[in-house]
Amino acid sequence: MIIYHLFEMIKKRTMKYCFIIFLLIFRMTASSFSQDASNSRIDTLLPVRGFCIAAPQTGNIDKFTKFIREELAQRKVNTLILRIDFNYKYKSHPELSDSVALSETDVKKLVKACRENSIRIIPQVNLLGHQSWAGNIGNLLRIYPEFDETPLVKMPVKYVWPNPDGLYCKSYCPLHPLVHDIVFEIVDEICDVFETDAFHAGMDEVFYIGEEECPRCSGRDPAELFAGEVRTIHDHLALKRRRLWIWGDRLIDGKTTGLGEWEASFNNTYRAVDMIPKDVIICDWHYERPDQTPVYFAMKGLSVVTCPWRMPGNAVLQLNDMVRFRDHSTPEMKERFLGMVQTVWSGAGQFLDSYYGRKKDEGTNTDVNCFIALYGEIQKLNGSE
Ligand SMILES: [Zn+2]
Repeated sequence: MIIYHLFEMIKKRTMKYCFIIFLLIFRMTASSFSQDASNSRIDTLLPVRGFCIAAPQTGNIDKFTKFIREELAQRKVNTLILRIDFNYKYKSHPELSDSVALSETDVKKLVKACRENSIRIIPQVNLLGHQSWAGNIGNLLRIYPEFDETPLVKMPVKYVWPNPDGLYCKSYCPLHPLVHDIVFEIVDEICDVFETDAFHAGMDEVFYIGEEECPRCSGRDPAELFAGEVRTIHDHLALKRRRLWIWGDRLIDGKTTGLGEWEASFNNTYRAVDMIPKDVIICDWHYERPDQTPVYFAMKGLSVVTCPWRMPGNAVLQLNDMVRFRDHSTPEMKERFLGMVQTVWSGAGQFLDSYYGRKKDEGTNTDVNCFIALYGEIQKLNGSE
């Protein structure tokens, strides 16, 4: 009799444990299913949900990875464009690195935080343009002045805009026979260390191109020079199955559209839009108005993301436009409207200070408010589907 009771007790307990295990498995499966369904819904709504910022300085890596894990991941950001330039200790070209720069260990922390949260990292090194800033020459042309498209334009002691030289930023000469040997080594190295299949080459606001004083470029068509450089970079990346991303401003006619010489081109590069490979991804930035330019790029066969900066109202309009373009286009066009990328033009440390309220209130139109508004609206659209 005692043995019988003992046996019954074990049977009951076993059944109870089985039931608990069954419940646990069911709940885990259901939760993972609902997570998958939610991700697939938002991926259909907006395949690219991006954030673009200067890479943090080495002392801010831990703060920034916390931001990735807690803020970007929570908002389902899936693309992080990190502007690196010379903020990395390049082994292939240590002479080009900033005096304080990220180590491989720093980068691997970023890679880990992103991988764990299904965020794709796209490193950026400015190619062609942006080789100087205000009165300071960038590392590439400081170390290799022979690549300068305008060696006769000297850096001013006190930079002002406008100036007689039309100096905004220096460019390298895209036809210099040795320039790509150097820059592609750092491009390959930065892509390798970030373990990525995509690279952002910048290429915005190129004011110096096809200059008369350049023995290689004078008399050439700026659109062909620009497109040629895009293709050269594209083809190099393609060798390792990597995708090229660039800013879109040089591909828009600034005069006809009224978009001006910054967010569009006054120097005849815009016809390059018909000459570049169709699998280059265009980051179309407009900060003052919600321009409808994504349609232009998509109709040219190019995939496009819209990039707001600091005006929350415009960012929300641009997001709704992007969703509408995807909803009301042919299947061919729809797949080219990729999504939204919030851009931040201050340093990462400064952005984090503002985000976490360590800096005084800077008003409504800030990158922090724009980021919060954009992703709040994305969550709303995703939830209301
Ligand atoms: Zn040149």
